[in-house]
Amino acid sequence: MSTSALVILSGGQDSATCLYWAQPRFTRLETITFDYGQRHRIELECAARLAKAVGAAHKLVPVNSLSALASNALTDPSVPVKADGGFQNLPSTFVPGRNILFLTLAASYAATRGIRDLVIGACETDFSGYPDCRDVFMSDMERALSSGLDSPIRIHRPLMRLDKAQTFALADELGRLDEVVRETHTCYEGVRDELHAWGYGCGTCPACGLRKKGYEEFKNGAGRR
Ligand SMILES: [Zn+2]
Repeated sequence: MSTSALVILSGGQDSATCLYWAQPRFTRLETITFDYGQRHRIELECAARLAKAVGAAHKLVPVNSLSALASNALTDPSVPVKADGGFQNLPSTFVPGRNILFLTLAASYAATRGIRDLVIGACETDFSGYPDCRDVFMSDMERALSSGLDSPIRIHRPLMRLDKAQTFALADELGRLDEVVRETHTCYEGVRDELHAWGYGCGTCPACGLRKKGYEEFKNGAGRR
């Protein structure tokens, strides 16, 4: 049976790994990327390249409302990136309800393309306290979207129970570790001047910290299943 999936692709490690995870599982892939006024454009460029490399259609959707709603470190360069100080003292990069919005937009677009399967790189293992990354939220959202679209929607979240080392291990199992290291971007600060073993980035922001630590654990044998 021919099945299609829409991968929510940010251009980062997690969503790229999801793209490679989805490739052998679906006969046709499309991708959607949200431009919500990120501090830099690098992730968006990575997303477009990743999609093209696997022959998947790429839809870039502008979402201007996130920065208008509230100041946060993802969209406002004057807000420092740190592990607290944001909404309800969550990390300053937290945008309340971002995945509610993104999944709704993705499902709406998918419906126009005849697609019922969404793939998202949400993960509750390296849990920073983001309530809309949890598995229970994804199940609730599947029900809400299926009801609202009057069509059974599935939200695939292959990384939900994986930590960063296991996500690197998954990319390795899929034979795509090199692409994930080189072709994705995670760094909040937009640094991309030098390729490290774990990828590009400043090495010190919270996103780089997680990625670097995960890669080192993976190389030390953690994460292999
Ligand atoms: Zn960084």
